[in-house]
Amino acid sequence: MKTPSHSAQRHLVFVGGGHTHALVLLALGKTPLPNCRITLISDVESAPYSGMLPGRVAGIYEDDEMHIDLPRLCRYAGADFVSAHVSGYEPETGILQQEDGEALDLRPDFISFNVGSAPKLDAVTGAQQWAIPSKPVPRLLEGWARVREAAAQIPPEGDPLRIIVVGGGAGGVELTLAMQSQLPESTRFDLVHGGDHLLPGHNDRVRRRFTNLLAARGVTTRLGKRVVEVMEKQTRLDDGSSLESDFVFWVTQPAPPKWLQETGLELNEKGFLRVGPTLECLGRRGVFAAGDVASIEDTPLPKSGVYAVRMAAPLEANLRAAWAGNPLGSYEPQRHILSLIGTADGRAVVSRPWLPTLHSRIAWWWKDRIDQRFMRQFVEAERSRETD
Ligand SMILES: Cc1cc2nc3c(=O)[nH]c(=O)nc-3n(C[C@H](O)[C@H](O)[C@H](O)COP(=O)(O)OP(=O)(O)OC[C@H]3O[C@@H](n4cnc5c(N)ncnc54)[C@H](O)[C@@H]3O)c2cc1C
Repeated sequence: MKTPSHSAQRHLVFVGGGHTHALVLLALGKTPLPNCRITLISDVESAPYSGMLPGRVAGIYEDDEMHIDLPRLCRYAGADFVSAHVSGYEPETGILQQEDGEALDLRPDFISFNVGSAPKLDAVTGAQQWAIPSKPVPRLLEGWARVREAAAQIPPEGDPLRIIVVGGGAGGVELTLAMQSQLPESTRFDLVHGGDHLLPGHNDRVRRRFTNLLAARGVTTRLGKRVVEVMEKQTRLDDGSSLESDFVFWVTQPAPPKWLQETGLELNEKGFLRVGPTLECLGRRGVFAAGDVASIEDTPLPKSGVYAVRMAAPLEANLRAAWAGNPLGSYEPQRHILSLIGTADGRAVVSRPWLPTLHSRIAWWWKDRIDQRFMRQFVEAERSRETD
C-alpha cells in the first residue's frame, strides 16, 4: 500500500459486499469520509442476508426481503459500484485481478476484503458436478428452485424425491428443516454428518432437541459418516454403503476462496486471511479483512453472519482511524453469542451455552424481528436520501 499524503484524495476499495461491508457502507453514507473516493467490487448486485436464508427456503421471505441492493447502497454511500469477481490481488501494487484475467487498476490507499466463505466441493469425487453448495447463496437458491420444480412434477403415485444434506452444523440442520417444511411428506431426507453429534458448538440440550425434531419430521440422521462420492443418482459413504439421491446439498465446513493463496497475504492453516484484533491483515498496513474470510489471531471464531455483522463497527472505526492517520483500535469479540435457529414450523430454538433450551413461537418472533430490522435499516436510509 502506498502511504497517502493527507491533503490528496484517497481511495478506499471494498472487495465483496458481505454483511460487514454493507453495514460500513451504510455508516459511510450517514457520515461520509471527507476527501475519500470509495469503490465496492462485488460479483453480485443483490447481496443475500444469511439470517433470512433458511426462512427464504421455508417460504417465509421473498427474495427481495433478504437481499441488499448493492448499487443502490453505493449510491447512498457516494461509492462507485464495480461488478466483477475478483480472483487475485497484488498487495505491493494494489492491483486486483478479475476472473477473466483483466486487471482492475484502482490504486487503493486502503482496501478491505469481505468475500465470505463456501463449502469445499473439490475434495470429494463428483461433488463439484452433482452437489449443490450452500454458498454462494445464488447457487443454493437455484438448486432449491430445481428441487421445487422436480417435486411439482412427481405424479401422485410416483417415487418420492430423495434428498441428502451433507453437514450437520446449524446451517445444515436449519436448511434440512426448511426444505422438509416445503416438500411432500413422502420426500426422503438423509442428513449425513462426519462428527459424532450434530450442531458442534451448541450444548447437549440443543443437540437433543434437534435430533428429536429431525426424527419427528422424518429425517434420517447419519452421524460419524462421510460422503466419499457423489453420483447423479447415488451417494457413497465411507462405510461402503450407498444412498439413492436425487439432490445432494453440501453444507460442510466453510472454506476460504482459493485465490487468496496467490496474493502473498498471510493466511492461517485453513487458508483464511490472518488479521490482528484491528482487522488489519498481518504485516500489511491499510489492508483489512472482515467476516468469514478473516481469522483473528488467537481468537478463533465460528464462521457466522452474527460475527460478520459485529465486525462492521470496529472495521468502520479503523478505516476512519487509518484515513486520519490515527492509531487503530482493537475488536474484542463476544466469546459466546446467542443463536436463534429456526425450525420452519413458526418456532425457533434459542441456543446459548448456559441457557435452558427454549423452542417457541416467541423465539421465532424475536429472530424475525432482528432480521427484519437488519434489512430495514438499508431500505430506510436509502429512502430517506432519495426523498431529500
Ligand atoms: C444454509 C446456511 C444458513 C446460515 N444461517 C445463518 C444464520 O441464520 N445466522 C448467521 O449468523 N449465519 C448463518 N450462516 C452463516 C453465514 O452465511 C455466514 O457466516 C455469513 O454469510 C458470512 O458473512 P460475510 O459477510 O463474511 O460473507 P458473505 O455473506 O458470504 O458475503 C460475501 C460477499 O462477497 C461476494 N464475493 C465473494 N467472493 C467475491 C469475489 N471474489 N469478488 C467479488 N465479490 C465476491 C459474495 O457474492 C457475497 O455477496 C448460514 C450459512 C449457511 C450455509
